[in-house]
Amino acid sequence: MSVTVRVPAKVNVQLGVGAARPDGFHGLANVFLAVGLYDEVTVTPADELRVTCAGPDAAHVPLDRSNLAARAALALAARRGIDPAVHLHIDKDIPVAGGMAGGSADGAGALLACDALWGTRASRAELLDICAELGSDVPFSLVGGAALGTGRGEVLTPLEVGGTFHWVFALAERGLSTPAVFREFDRLTAGRTVPEPAASQPVLDALAKGDAEALAAAVTNDLQPAALSLFPALCDTLAAGRAAGALATLVSGSGPTTAHLAPDRATADHIAAALRDSGTCRTVRVATAPAAGATVVS
Ligand code: ATP
Repeated sequence: MSVTVRVPAKVNVQLGVGAARPDGFHGLANVFLAVGLYDEVTVTPADELRVTCAGPDAAHVPLDRSNLAARAALALAARRGIDPAVHLHIDKDIPVAGGMAGGSADGAGALLACDALWGTRASRAELLDICAELGSDVPFSLVGGAALGTGRGEVLTPLEVGGTFHWVFALAERGLSTPAVFREFDRLTAGRTVPEPAASQPVLDALAKGDAEALAAAVTNDLQPAALSLFPALCDTLAAGRAAGALATLVSGSGPTTAHLAPDRATADHIAAALRDSGTCRTVRVATAPAAGATVVS
């Protein structure tokens, strides 16, 4: 018997970052949008806990207990006094260290899969609690759709989305470490007053209306200058997306994946082809949003 859960990637259509707090965390106003690029996590009973991974980026995924899928299984097992003897297999399509919450997706997916396999029937609130312990982006991977994340990003308010958005994602040659991007943000903003971030009403309105042009005018990412400072070649990728007709181009989360918002599917395909030909990225993916959160598929 095994259980497979499908989990989406995310793009931040607003990533508002405040000054570093004494505990090192930054206050965030995050508007998460789940996009239709997925990892699948399959859990099967085994002699002991082990993790395997398949997919183009599999070589960059840790297979020890630092893997977020393993940590999720261990967290649920510890709470319920269960022996976490399972094989976790990750079919990975979300870029690794790409700013699309791929590790978080695997954490949420493993948690839901283990809950189903073990029959632990944890409440939604308990699952969200465990997700928040695992990392700031993990709760959103569980719920999907669109949500405002405050605090460290883990306090979620679901948001209404009134239509389908078409995105093109350009994946970079190498990853960027999220902590390194936050350190660069601190360096770039040193000596300046950084206001506490708040949700952007134009972003929320554009999502609610399903209006791509309005969303394009409203998207912001306060981490973008830091990501571009560490990875200046991304400027060329953003420019290639704009030249091909993207309504908006931005760094996804902490990067280095770049997100290009298209007015419709045909333009998305055109932007994807142009980005592929531009030689400014490793590979390109087209996806729509919103996507459902972690879902048991078999
Ligand atoms: P975020 O958008 O949440 O900041 P990210 O998408 O930039 O994250 P991830 O793909 O989640 O980055 O990976 C960040 C690091 O986490 C990896 O470099 C890897 O060492 C570690 N990691 C732990 N578990 C996983 C996992 N299941 N998949 C990928 N990376 C993992």
